[in-house]
Amino acid sequence: MAFTSFSLDPSLLKAISKSSYNEPTEIQKQSIPLILAKHDVMARAQTGTGKTAAFALPILQNLLLTKPAKTELRVLVLTPTRELAQQVYKSFCHYGEYTSINMGIAYGGVSTKQQILDIKQGIDVLIATPGRLLDLLHTKSVSLDKINVLVFDEADRMLDMGFKDEIERITQQLPKTKQTLLFSATFADEIYRMSKNMLINPKIIEI
Ligand code: AMP
Repeated sequence: MAFTSFSLDPSLLKAISKSSYNEPTEIQKQSIPLILAKHDVMARAQTGTGKTAAFALPILQNLLLTKPAKTELRVLVLTPTRELAQQVYKSFCHYGEYTSINMGIAYGGVSTKQQILDIKQGIDVLIATPGRLLDLLHTKSVSLDKINVLVFDEADRMLDMGFKDEIERITQQLPKTKQTLLFSATFADEIYRMSKNMLINPKIIEI
């Protein structure tokens, strides 16, 4: 199976061929069509399986199909740590290199100044850790009114790190109608409980 069988935009295929990926990984084969079709998805996949491209590529594709005249923040990816936020941000920048989609990043432990400046320039995708995102919401530095895709990356780690309340406070500020994707290395009971609250008729992928 080749990446070309997903009907992705040539700009995305160009970035993929630059990475010299021969073919999609298992998680990519299963999740890309479901995300393109706008399903909610709950996927169990470890780091190293290609899970970032498994959500980044179809999200970028759907953004390209519906790009408004004015840039709007439409995709929010929540990660448990700064390191993961940076990795996911890099992946989005890489896969979106030949598109006009703009990415932003927000994590704690550094000044908010540059992060706010980047957001104000206009971004389509924000990758954030929960605590810093709440700070930015508190100071009205970012608006989540137009979000139509929400991703929880490493959801199990987010819960382990005690971000349950933060996640609830963030999701209360999101539009009701959206696509939600949950990626987790494990499907513990608390992940199922979270998915019951956050996802609607999710397609389940376990690799
Ligand atoms: P991840 O699981 O998202 O952390 O990705 C792990 C590594 O796999 C990253 O270095 C990616 O660049 C790489 N990768 C992602 N998709 C593919 C693919 N289809 N073929 C080969 N490598 C890939």
